[in-house]
Amino acid sequence: MKTPYYLIHRGILEEGMEKLKAAIARYWPNAAVGYSFKTNALPWVLQYMKEQGCLAEVVSEDEYELAEHMGYDRIVYNGPVKGKDSFLRACGRGDVINLDAAREVDWLREAAAGRQGRPVKVGIRMNFDLEAACPGEASGGAEGGRFGFSYETGSFGRIVEELRALPGVEIAGVHLHCSSKTRSLKIYEAVAAAACRVRRECGLDLDYIDVGGGYFGGLADRPQYADYLRVMSSILREEYDPGRTMLIMEPGTSLISPPVEYVTSVVDVKDTNRNRFVVTDGSRIHVDPLMTKKSYFYRLEPSGGREAGGRLEKQVIAGFTCMENDRLFELKDAPALRAGDRIVYEKVGAYTMCLSPLFIGYYPAVYLEEEGKISCIREKWGVEEYVQKSVTEGKQV
Ligand SMILES: *Cc1c(COP(=O)(O)O)cnc(C)c1O
Repeated sequence: MKTPYYLIHRGILEEGMEKLKAAIARYWPNAAVGYSFKTNALPWVLQYMKEQGCLAEVVSEDEYELAEHMGYDRIVYNGPVKGKDSFLRACGRGDVINLDAAREVDWLREAAAGRQGRPVKVGIRMNFDLEAACPGEASGGAEGGRFGFSYETGSFGRIVEELRALPGVEIAGVHLHCSSKTRSLKIYEAVAAAACRVRRECGLDLDYIDVGGGYFGGLADRPQYADYLRVMSSILREEYDPGRTMLIMEPGTSLISPPVEYVTSVVDVKDTNRNRFVVTDGSRIHVDPLMTKKSYFYRLEPSGGREAGGRLEKQVIAGFTCMENDRLFELKDAPALRAGDRIVYEKVGAYTMCLSPLFIGYYPAVYLEEEGKISCIREKWGVEEYVQKSVTEGKQV
């Protein structure tokens, strides 16, 4: 297997899934898991999640069509910019739809008018002041989150009234996904408390509460699924009956980050007057496409059959692209790396493959490890895949 490539360990994926299911069974058995497509939509992963009984959690028309293509029976349709065609299809299929924009109410009116009797059920994404509840923790910080209808301004209450007045429409749920810097239990206390407030103040009798994603996964010293669910369940039970109201979770990172590795090789070592650069065939664009990570989980695998080299105080691990900032990390006080040694990045399945650009090199291969056996689940992309759908002489449109 030629580096660089991604490697998915099925056993680790399975372990995460089982922990999630066990936690759900213990704290809120009436639950559904919508796998967040955007986190990693590799077709093998989507098939796996479907076989595990997950719903598809999608946030665009393209993703909605991908979920249909993959044969998902039920889709959770979120996002601020849905497509009208897919929105209307979702209404017809009875998918879980969480409204996030005023124009969707017009589409809903259209969908409801076209149906005799059976109401269209929808949820509403609620925007609430997470930063006030958890200072320093919300992703939006002092600027606030931008998704959903604002609870504090009364916009959420107004859309509730608007939908109540719409014939053929029922409010089935609220969606409360929040992204945070901390993934702390406190975030989910705030989410559960917001769900309770909705019931008390708007008198909504809900089929579901969608608490979104954003959990830690696969890290022993961080909160586990059972912790998140215990905390949410104890708050939600003050207002909701688990027999009546379903809990929807939308994990992405916590499921797909832990089982994926990125395997790279050292191809060259060079010294300048300022640094020792270890050049690898991997790149930061494949493990940190947004260029924001401060550190990685990794291990070094020296190539066999050689004496270990001397130790060096500092080595700068660099990638194959021609960007100066394609530097992955500094290796401190470690044996001198040499061509042929491998650097394996761990827990890199989330927001990596799906965000990588087709820059300088095309997509690397993806392999699957299952009980020690390896198979290929995506071939490396080459020129043929790169040029598809492009022409060198345009047709007038
Ligand atoms: C991104 C997203 C998720 C998944 O978030 P993770 O941090 O990857 O678990 C779930 N729901 C919605 C609405 C999202 O936008």
